Amino acid sequence: MVAEDDARHRRGQYEEIWAIFDRDEHPDVLTARDAVKDHPKIKIAFSHPSFDFWLLLHFSLFDVPQDGHNDDVLTRLAACPGFTGFGPSDKKITQARADELRPRAGAAVRHARKLEKRCEDDRCVHDRGTASRCGLLDQDPSTGMWRLLESLGVLRLLR
Ligand SMILES: [Zn+2]
Repeated sequence: MVAEDDARHRRGQYEEIWAIFDRDEHPDVLTARDAVKDHPKIKIAFSHPSFDFWLLLHFSLFDVPQDGHNDDVLTRLAACPGFTGFGPSDKKITQARADELRPRAGAAVRHARKLEKRCEDDRCVHDRGTASRCGLLDQDPSTGMWRLLESLGVLRLLR
C-alpha cells in the first residue's frame, strides 16, 4: 500500500520501504516475498521463526532449527537480562528492555550475519532437501533485521 502510494502519488518520497515479517504460522510467506522481491524500493526483513528470535540474538548466537515454533526462543529470551516474564502475554519492549537491547545491537547484527554466512558457505544446520542453496523458509533460524539496522545507520548512532 505504501509502495503503491509512493509510486502513484508521491513519486520518490521514500528511498526505501521495509516489509518486516516473520514465519510464525503464516502459510503465504513465499507469496508475500515474491510479491515484492522485484520492487526497486521494497526491502525485506524476514525472521524465522519469529521477530523474537532477533531479540534473542542480542544476547547470544542461537542456531537450532525451530520448525516454525517459537516456544524455545521465548523461554531463552525470558532468561535474558530485563526479559523476565517476556512471552505471549507480555511482548512489550519496556524502557528497561530497550536499555538491555541497545548496547547489544552490534552483537545481534554480528550474530544474524554469521547465521547467513554459514548458510552461504554451506556450513549451516538447515534442511534444504535436494536444493543446492537454502531457500527463505529453509533458513531456520534466521533474521534479516540486521539489514534494516544497517540501512538506517542505527549502529553508528548507538556508538
Ligand atoms: Zn542454510
